[in-house]
Amino acid sequence: MSAPQEVYTLADLQDWGAATSGLELPARISVFGDPVKHSRSPQMHNPALLEGGQQCQYIRLHIEPDQLPQALQLLKEQNFIGTNVTIPHKGGVHDAVDELTEVARLTQAVNTVLVDGDRLIGHNTDAPGLERAIREEFSVDLSDLRVMVLGAGGGAGRAACVQAAVKRCQRLVLVNRTFEKADSLRQELAPIFADSDKLLGPVDRLVAIPHEVEALERELKHTDIIINATSLGMKVGDPALIPAHLIQPSHLIYDMVYAPPQTRLMRDAVQAGARAANGLSMLLWQGAYAYEFWFNEPAPVEAMRRGLEESLAS
Ligand code: NAP
Repeated sequence: MSAPQEVYTLADLQDWGAATSGLELPARISVFGDPVKHSRSPQMHNPALLEGGQQCQYIRLHIEPDQLPQALQLLKEQNFIGTNVTIPHKGGVHDAVDELTEVARLTQAVNTVLVDGDRLIGHNTDAPGLERAIREEFSVDLSDLRVMVLGAGGGAGRAACVQAAVKRCQRLVLVNRTFEKADSLRQELAPIFADSDKLLGPVDRLVAIPHEVEALERELKHTDIIINATSLGMKVGDPALIPAHLIQPSHLIYDMVYAPPQTRLMRDAVQAGARAANGLSMLLWQGAYAYEFWFNEPAPVEAMRRGLEESLAS
């Protein structure tokens, strides 16, 4: 019996029996990405599959954008249970599957696919995963918070905004470097807020602003939680997302970045006396909800958590 390869390719998927012939358990769940070598999903999911008694394992598939249609077709032919989807395929898979869950339709992105006979069903577990992570980190529900999302024009930012809106958060401030993207999402989400009878005093419940200091300063006075969904924070030299002096002790900071475990934004928050958490809990809960989507049973979350923590420590 042999260990799975670090990464498989489309060519392997075309002859899956031969490519995986030495494995103890059949490889029937994957993560598609380009690149994908860095993905920690196998280290998180394989302990859960073992603990849950599922007779299969989870592997990485390096799929390039022009290979996506063929790869999705092969999932069905090779008897896969499903796949996760990471950069850059979340939009492409959204457009290619046979059916979408409501949250995938709203977020316009798919990070989890279930193979259901001859059909592919696309779901997005990033959005509910974020909500659950915030509850776990801060013991508070998104629906009770005035939320600011930095990076509201990107994929993860859109997922955060949609989840906050459908959960009828108290207030939502969409911040994006390219203002037009945040404003367009604001217009899309406006009917959800118009539908609500919540009152919030003098400020608007749904606002889009450019990622500029003056606008941030104004809106931060009416914000409980700041969610970083920009791609900044991973590198040491990244600029500050918010000037440190604008962070108040009452703010909660959720940074979707988890490597490094403490970003500049989180450090500034802690120095201001605020509470801050990184994106590891979101990674965990999006994975747990994906497991539940595939198997229709509760995920062994603690096994997943241990797997993730061990992979980050090594
Ligand atoms: P994306 O679609 O490329 O979006 C990037 C966002 O960052 C855009 O809104 C972009 O603004 C903004 N941005 C980029 N450079 C900026 C700068 N210099 N100043 C201000 N804003 C800037 O990326 P994504 O897929 O949404 O991912 C975003 C982050 O979330 C990544 O760090 C990713 O690893 C993380 N993430 C974490 C999890 C988790 O489970 N923890 C899940 C999903 C994503 P413009 O629109 O102006 O370009």
